[in-house]
Amino acid sequence: MMDVFAALVGQDAATVTFRRAAAEADALVRAGRGLGVEENAQPGARTGAMTHAWIVTGPPGSGRLEAARAFAAALQCRTGVGCGECPGCHTTLAGSNADVRMVVPEGLSIAVADMRALVMRAGTAPSGGRWQVVVVSDADRLTEGAGNALLKAIEEPSPRTVFLLCTPSTHPDDISVTIRSRCRVVPLVQARPEALAAALTEGQGVAPDVAVWAAAAAQGDVELARRLAGDPEVRKRREAVLTVPRKLTSVGACFDAASALIESAEAEAAALVVAMDGTERADLERALGAGGTGRGAAGAMRGAAGQLKELEKRQKSRATRAQRDALDRALVDLAGFYRDVLAAQFGAPVRPVHGDTEANAKAAAAKWTAESTLRRLEAVLSCREAITLNVKPRIAVEAMMLSLWRG
Ligand SMILES: [Zn+2]
Repeated sequence: MMDVFAALVGQDAATVTFRRAAAEADALVRAGRGLGVEENAQPGARTGAMTHAWIVTGPPGSGRLEAARAFAAALQCRTGVGCGECPGCHTTLAGSNADVRMVVPEGLSIAVADMRALVMRAGTAPSGGRWQVVVVSDADRLTEGAGNALLKAIEEPSPRTVFLLCTPSTHPDDISVTIRSRCRVVPLVQARPEALAAALTEGQGVAPDVAVWAAAAAQGDVELARRLAGDPEVRKRREAVLTVPRKLTSVGACFDAASALIESAEAEAAALVVAMDGTERADLERALGAGGTGRGAAGAMRGAAGQLKELEKRQKSRATRAQRDALDRALVDLAGFYRDVLAAQFGAPVRPVHGDTEANAKAAAAKWTAESTLRRLEAVLSCREAITLNVKPRIAVEAMMLSLWRG
């Protein structure tokens, strides 16, 4: 039978760490104990496998949240291994376990006050008799206030409370140095294409040839590989990106290509966030008791208007972020193409990133000098960087297209 860690693709080292920790956690539960003070004082120096606070890092699409969720399930598992079948495993994976709290810094519930309340509840005894687990899905996106509330909890942990923080890296931009120093870090790696393809075929019944193609095209991003294998829209968008190099034949064509790329990212982002936005708004309206008429209803309505406004602000910033994420994925695809051209020019014995445009890459390799290919690759990378530094995406992309055309 598949246990909860089977879903983690190509993460053998992390899985070993989590399995050992879950086994020790299980032994503690059976002995009627929790984690003691000395075990928390120096998480790095401790030789035991289990500790209170963890950071799961990894590149986009490496499955940080899935890994944290699998570990949480193993902690709640009746057998202590994450069997995937007992109520503890089931409820954790389904998001309904009373002792596992999921914090998503983009939802409604990440204000400082909410984080404090959550931390307080996390300090109580687990109702299922095992562990209280708090999973923070994007710890790099916590506000400073919420981060401080979390830090306090990590510094003074209860014996049966475990914090699992997911962030892209342990760079101070992503997680505060103080929180980092209190946590044990589990780095996830970029999954190898072979492992990814096997997972798509075995786990989701994707045809082997499609799986191999999607795994290579996704460049280690598990989530993207699944979407490429399963969603024709995603495949279409990727194909459109890879035709860009051939389309740049004039200044006008450059501006057209820039517009198309931006609009495609906007459409992709909208498809991702629109359902979430609607659900959140309906939830908030329900929570606010829309349409109250009793005494104090006017005051409540004013408060409600403020909360709705706050929600709209958050949703807008999430939409912007989703657009930038989508655009960034397109730029990574584009960079992959120029990398393939360069590899062909040097006769490097590496597999192309985009097997399906290999012929185009070879044709470009025969036409351009290696220097101009390198300049093109650099143009794509500079565009990514400029957008990270808050240059308006359209301006950055237009500049990039012109550089790609001139070479
Ligand atoms: Zn289980």
